[in-house]
Amino acid sequence: MQRQPLVIANWKMNGSRSLVEKMTVELREHDEVLDRISVVICPPAVLLPAWQDAVFYDHVHLGAQDISEHASGAHTGEHSLSLLTEAGVDYVLIGHSERRQYYGEDEERIRAKVQAALSFNEKPVTVVLCVGETASQRQQEQTYAVVEQQLQSALDGVSEQQSKQIVIAYEPVWAIGTGQTASPELAQQVHGFIRQWLTKKFRVSGSRMHILYGGSLKADNAEALFAEADIDGGLIGGASLDPEEFLAICSAA
Ligand code: PGA
Repeated sequence: MQRQPLVIANWKMNGSRSLVEKMTVELREHDEVLDRISVVICPPAVLLPAWQDAVFYDHVHLGAQDISEHASGAHTGEHSLSLLTEAGVDYVLIGHSERRQYYGEDEERIRAKVQAALSFNEKPVTVVLCVGETASQRQQEQTYAVVEQQLQSALDGVSEQQSKQIVIAYEPVWAIGTGQTASPELAQQVHGFIRQWLTKKFRVSGSRMHILYGGSLKADNAEALFAEADIDGGLIGGASLDPEEFLAICSAA
């Protein structure tokens, strides 16, 4: 089963209206790449309207960096799925390691967010579930156990049918923003493990699911990573803020 490459830009708390314009120009100049792959841009929520005006192409989607598990109400500072989808979002990142580490998101909250996204019925949204081990967990040889536990907990109760709305991003925490990219072999080992886990849980649907690599993915290491059997694209932080570099990564997919 051929999986169309998927490349996601995670701007985190960066970017500006002028970067939206620059990136749009760069995307337009590379429409041949956009014929082959899907691209998702996750800007800070306040930049979604600027992107919504700029998006012109079927294969460019908008994503949110996080969602509230609540539908509406007294949740100061949060964004509901209704608000985000109205702003053009059809992908949502859930469980990014920065949310887990710095904003106290535990397994229960991540599962609630996954459930909220899957049961949202105003518009279909795709969940990009982020998993990955820390440096000390890797040193203690807990990588597979940690990743398995994160998958098990977040995807508890998810049906084979719903799995079509899920993408997994394997992001070793020690590789995020550090310049220490996982080698293609090392990344493939974990991606292969995730694939096995997904096909066990979701059967044939598991073989169709996208598994993305994230963590210091750059133009100069993208091709080797994307060449691996179970690496179906990337979740790009720092390098997605440079339009030329981001498009070079897209071209490698
Ligand atoms: P990075 O971030 O590419 O800057 O390492 C990836 C991510 O956190 O999604």
